[in-house]
Amino acid sequence: DVLQSEGLDFSSLLLSQPVLLGLAASGFQRPSPIQLKAIPLGRCGLDLIVQAKSGTGKTCVFTTIALDSLVVENPATQVLVLAPTREIAVQIHSVITAIGIEIEDLQCHVFIGGTPVSLDRTRLKKCHIAVGSPGRVKQLIEMGYLATASIRLFVLDEADKLLEEGSFQDQINWIYSSLPVNKQMLALSATYPESLAQHLARYMRDPTFVRLNPSDPGLLGLKQYYKIVKSHPLPHKIFQEKVQHLLDLFSKIPFNQALVFSNLHSRAQRLADILTSKGLPAVCISGSLTQDQRLEAMSKLKQYKCRVLISTDLTSRGIDAEKVNLVINLDVPQHWETYMHRIGRAGRFGTHGLAVTYCCHGEEENEMMTIAQKCSLNLSCLPDPLPPGLM
Ligand code: ADP
Ligand code: MG
Repeated sequence: DVLQSEGLDFSSLLLSQPVLLGLAASGFQRPSPIQLKAIPLGRCGLDLIVQAKSGTGKTCVFTTIALDSLVVENPATQVLVLAPTREIAVQIHSVITAIGIEIEDLQCHVFIGGTPVSLDRTRLKKCHIAVGSPGRVKQLIEMGYLATASIRLFVLDEADKLLEEGSFQDQINWIYSSLPVNKQMLALSATYPESLAQHLARYMRDPTFVRLNPSDPGLLGLKQYYKIVKSHPLPHKIFQEKVQHLLDLFSKIPFNQALVFSNLHSRAQRLADILTSKGLPAVCISGSLTQDQRLEAMSKLKQYKCRVLISTDLTSRGIDAEKVNLVINLDVPQHWETYMHRIGRAGRFGTHGLAVTYCCHGEEENEMMTIAQKCSLNLSCLPDPLPPGLM
């Protein structure tokens, strides 16, 4: 069932209390499968393309992400949602108001053609979330009534319809260019034609593709594995053991470029030295480097002067590495958001990637399983020996 997922309820998504109460008040007890997949990624701030057939609960996906990050004390418009028809805009408004019922002073309004602009102007004096049709929204921005400076989240609901040939393309282009550069973008659609992919590529950098297909991993084309290594009372022995496994993996699979995450900076640097000494060009970026040094490391990766980039989480956000098709977690990250963020660096649309997390038998293994459950990962144990065609 597209609206039924086993076990987990909304509280496992670590949403704010008012949002949880609002979901319950709206009769939503358990997240639907697409909500379970998309909400955690959206909360990490990733740009998402959410594709799932109609009736799977996509409205609640962006509503939850929007409400969870809203700053109600700030009266400025922080979220802009575009919809192709008035009916859909009105429906979205009612879902936002229902799930936002416990958020005191929440202001969400609908802006569509056929109503007087003067009324819109009054509503826009305090409007956290604006939902509207492209035509009216463009008009309101042009007239200076809808201020875009504080918009942090831009949502295209029914993106396939919004960006259809001969529909709202020009208006959406115009609206998009009036928005701040730093913002998150969500596009939701029942279908995903090639033309839509091309349009969205102009708006979104590195979007994560989320779709409903139980046989697919959460990130399209990314296979996720874990590998249990022997535990040891001495941390550096564990490190050595993991590095041994890693070297073995590197020697056996035809990866293009790899990103390795380590929880500890000292280990990241040490690993870079080991790999380089074994003839695998590796660089390490960490918080202790200057901005220039980080940029230099990034450009080495982009120019293909290094095959492995090693990073701690401090530096993971800025990494944009399109040729990376292997992500390694040398340690299990402390938070599930971090896991999603790390592996999101590979396996972008269409590309096929592999993510391998090394975990010690025992506690670290349990932490990995908790993340897997929380994020409903399609996670398997790395086969030994490695099967041909793994990558
Ligand atoms: P979509 O945009 O994917 O077509 P909607 O967001 O319109 O789907 O949701 C379809 C229906 O499912 C709505 O009636 C909505 O109230 C209901 N629904 C959505 N999420 C849940 C949930 N987690 N639990 C129960 N009902 C839900
Ligand atoms: Mg919908």
